[in-house]
Amino acid sequence: MVEIKTEQSIDEMRAAGRVVARALAAVRDAARVGVSLLELDRVARGVLTGAGASSPFLGYRPQFAPVPFPGVICASVNDAIVHGIPDGRRLSDGDLVSIDCGARLGGWVGDAAVSFTVGRPRPADLRLIETAEAALAAGIAAAVPGNRIGDIAHAVGTVCRAAGYGIMEDFGGHGVGRSMHEDPAVPNEGRPGRGMALRPGMVLAIEPMLTAGGRDDYRCDADGWTLRTVDGSRAAHAEHTVAITAGGPRILTAL
Ligand code: MG
Ligand code: MG
Repeated sequence: MVEIKTEQSIDEMRAAGRVVARALAAVRDAARVGVSLLELDRVARGVLTGAGASSPFLGYRPQFAPVPFPGVICASVNDAIVHGIPDGRRLSDGDLVSIDCGARLGGWVGDAAVSFTVGRPRPADLRLIETAEAALAAGIAAAVPGNRIGDIAHAVGTVCRAAGYGIMEDFGGHGVGRSMHEDPAVPNEGRPGRGMALRPGMVLAIEPMLTAGGRDDYRCDADGWTLRTVDGSRAAHAEHTVAITAGGPRILTAL
């Protein structure tokens, strides 16, 4: 069941999305060699609290999870793809960091992710991150009325595959609204012209997750949350919450 949002609801979602954008910007600003993931989580908490927002991540416990999620951000470093728990790990020179963050404000949720490096970056990591961002941009460009979910999936997947990267099989984007995860699923690979038709008022999280090794499989840490590449290669994640409108895609989680 896909909920179509009114223009006013989308404006309210934009307010939630702006909080996410500010939290991610603050985390990125604070991230440097020697800073712990827990400290980054505290930075994000400060932004959420200051804005009067709550976290849809904190305490989240889907069926697969053995424990509720303990942070307001997912912090996934190097070979961690997504869902990394922000713990006492300190960032090292050249680390590739993916931060996913959500905010709930006025009952509406925003959801976005960024990837970046700390210290001296590896050129291969920069290329991976740039490709994740390009895949996200291609997916957003395809999020227009008249297209279908498969057009977004195809746009994202084409950019990733052309660069030789792998795509997570079981994880992808989703509808967003009063809950973080709503219908429809938005895969990161698919066939153009297939799937649900896109209509104004649909709000989707589009989120390519790329693995440098080109493999599509992953394994889960003993913590029950952190997903890692099987071959140890690095991964990048980029995400925006996007509203489909008659005037084109509206990014709700931009600054
Ligand atoms: Mg997210
Ligand atoms: Mg998401």
